[in-house]
Amino acid sequence: MCKSSLALRIREKAVELGFAACGIIKLDAIKGYAEKLEERMDCLPETRSMYEVFLKYATPEQSYGWAKSVVVCITRYGKYKVPENLEGLIGKYYLYDYKLQGHTREFQNHARFEEYLKSLNLKTARELHGVTAARWVAAKAGLGIIRKNNFLYTEHGSWVIIDTWLIDEELELIEEPKIPDCPEGCSECVQSCPTQALTQSYCTSMLTCITRLTWGIKDLPPEDLWDKMGKWVYGCDECQNACPMNYGKWEATDNYPGLGELAEKLSLESIVAMDNEELKNQMLSKFWFIRQETVYQWKVNALRAMANSYESRYEKYIIGALSDENAQVREIAKWACAKNKL
Ligand code: SF4
Ligand code: SF4
Repeated sequence: MCKSSLALRIREKAVELGFAACGIIKLDAIKGYAEKLEERMDCLPETRSMYEVFLKYATPEQSYGWAKSVVVCITRYGKYKVPENLEGLIGKYYLYDYKLQGHTREFQNHARFEEYLKSLNLKTARELHGVTAARWVAAKAGLGIIRKNNFLYTEHGSWVIIDTWLIDEELELIEEPKIPDCPEGCSECVQSCPTQALTQSYCTSMLTCITRLTWGIKDLPPEDLWDKMGKWVYGCDECQNACPMNYGKWEATDNYPGLGELAEKLSLESIVAMDNEELKNQMLSKFWFIRQETVYQWKVNALRAMANSYESRYEKYIIGALSDENAQVREIAKWACAKNKL
């Protein structure tokens, strides 16, 4: 089979399995990612050590010497109903993250797609955190564009998940994106960022981005941000919600398996009331960015959210957390008491 037919067959299979789009780029097309990352680090020198770890994504062949191309697929999640009680608490991406959810159609179809690639005698590699820079690769394959808030936008807006597979065949399948640029003068995303982490277009500070602060740190976030982090418990959607290019792109037609049942069990109160074992059992397989060792972050985040949206029913939970076994939980509870004069 010639290379272009092979590439087309891969895309046909991806579409048949429910992916919204599929493209393929050669490894050479990733090289510019390192330069872009350097620009980001120059713009925010204080975040250099955090961004440097991503440099490896520009050269996946260092870990996979046989790799020649990247297959990239897009999954749309902006078609699912959002549980009302979780809106504004948990970033929507994480509600529909199927990576460790074996019962979902998306998880199973990813496995089927990988089997298909292997049936074509292709060697493949995929990693939980990605084998390369997913947004960059998707944009290079013409599946969308990266906007000023740093998210990849497709015809479905930014409500998409990107997956990448390395393969050992040099293939290419690039589309022409039919998506308009950001409107001239628009800075809604920058204005909407509660912690000013999106300091300027294309420049997000990992030091102050709420998403990272809710799951990616071991210590408490900087205290001057506790108020600004508002009610977000896991992730943050503000700069995507504010974007006019996302208007009308969420069409809630489908139920996501198991999410309704989970949502019924989740509230700020129930998170604070759970002990560490319950938190591990309830949360870790679904929301896997918070790990076992830092599972107390759920309580820290929920208590901060309670303090920032205080209602009298929260009082007993905040007071109770003053004697929690974890020092960070106690500290945030103390702050919540002071803030709400309890
Ligand atoms: S995810 Fe939230 S905190 Fe991070 S840049 Fe966007 S609006 Fe700011
Ligand atoms: S809010 Fe405006 S500037 Fe920001 S990503 Fe959307 S369209 Fe672009």
